[in-house]
Amino acid sequence: MINSIKSIFILVVAFISISAQSKEESLLYLKSNLEFIASDELEGREATSHGEQIASLFIAKELKKYGIKPFGDDDTYFQNFNMAVGSVSPSSVISLTDNSGELTGFEFKDDFLFAGAPFYPDNSFSGKEYEMIFAGYGVISEKEDYNDYANLDVTGKVVVVLNGTPLESLDNMGYRAMRNFKSNIADSLGAAGMIIVTEEKLYGYWGMIQKYMSGKSYALENEVNEKKSIPFIYFSKDALTNLLEKEKYNYEELNEFINKKEKPESFTLNQKIKLEFETVYEIKNARNVIGVLEGNNENLRDEFVTVGGHYDHEGIRNGVVYYGADDNGSGTVAVLETARLLAERKENQRSILFFFYAAEEKGLLGSKYLANHVDYINDVVANINMDMIGREGENHLHNIGSGRLSTEFYNLIKEANDKSVKLDFDYKYDAPNDPNNFYRRSDHYHFALKGIPVVFFFDDMKEDYSKPTDTVDKINFNKVYKVTKLVEEIALKVANLGHRLKVDKLVVK
Ligand SMILES: [Zn+2]
Repeated sequence: MINSIKSIFILVVAFISISAQSKEESLLYLKSNLEFIASDELEGREATSHGEQIASLFIAKELKKYGIKPFGDDDTYFQNFNMAVGSVSPSSVISLTDNSGELTGFEFKDDFLFAGAPFYPDNSFSGKEYEMIFAGYGVISEKEDYNDYANLDVTGKVVVVLNGTPLESLDNMGYRAMRNFKSNIADSLGAAGMIIVTEEKLYGYWGMIQKYMSGKSYALENEVNEKKSIPFIYFSKDALTNLLEKEKYNYEELNEFINKKEKPESFTLNQKIKLEFETVYEIKNARNVIGVLEGNNENLRDEFVTVGGHYDHEGIRNGVVYYGADDNGSGTVAVLETARLLAERKENQRSILFFFYAAEEKGLLGSKYLANHVDYINDVVANINMDMIGREGENHLHNIGSGRLSTEFYNLIKEANDKSVKLDFDYKYDAPNDPNNFYRRSDHYHFALKGIPVVFFFDDMKEDYSKPTDTVDKINFNKVYKVTKLVEEIALKVANLGHRLKVDKLVVK
């Protein structure tokens, strides 16, 4: 009796020490991998940069070491794609002429900016003079019988519109979607360009807007033609005040209309506008990294559970490295570690793919390319995405999107968590009308658009987000370890289900 209790005790101690040992081993991998990924030498891993190339090589070498096979182009770990990188020449100018022929000149960046991707390869707008016409909010809604363009001919003219909308039904559209919505309407009516009159409070962020909109724009090369649109122009507050000074309404008055959500009358401006700008774009190569752990059931092997995270970050700006240790070095090393652990177990019946996306920071371009260019996309049964998982409370984790397409996936994830690391899931960002829109802001989204059940794990690190201070010393590796174990558990459960995950809901776009 005593002997058997003793042997149980020994077994328990042995088990505890093995799992403690494997945790220590995982922590070692997570730390040393992240110290490399988020090092000075990798220069912030900006898509198309040298740092990105080194990072992708490192990831591929690690995968090989763990026994994960290549699943990219031509039996390599890499899936290459081309991006168009566009920018506006800093010497671009806009000028206004009034009836007396007097000229006012504005300079790019200081006085005006272009929103969206400046892909006008033929530069056809440049050097021409246009009439300007004011068209309310620039919105048409059949549903609400509302039309800012009623009785207006805007063909060949630059349309001036107010920011926002007086229509409640469009209020949740989000900033970028609203901009595209308005410029598409103007474009379809034959307008030559659009000037946006923003409310005064937005000028509190002018410095930030300047930084982003004067930089480069990125698009997948095969989508450049779709990105072409009419120029969408923002003026600085001074320039806008100047532009509207002698017109029917001045800036102050239009600002009041926006604040009250009221609609001013349309009018043709007295001045004409001349756009003189040059846009340039070049083609550059970036690459996703893809590895496979083949399933051990030949009937299920051709279906794939996918685990991913983006490995790119923002590179070097003004000589400063943006390390992106949490965003998304943490997710990158967690995908690697999940791969290592699952490769040791080899218990998966379906195959498991490991995705390391490039160019997430350029608009989710790597995952967009991947989801649209692999021939096995219809055999992907789930996509698990980690983007920032090593900061904030150790047991707190945002769980986004898991119930949008599949109730079964939602429950499976909950159960996997309850039986393993017991993290406190926070579903607050999962509300369909959440203004932060995180559901659409990371790589899983392109899989959700294909009807594939997704889950996005995220820590919502605020303090160092998108700053050079997002460094390794601030990472909580216990948290990264817990999320890794959770993902390992979920991936294996989905890989070994007797049926394909059930999709019982519509895609919420
Ligand atoms: Zn990220």
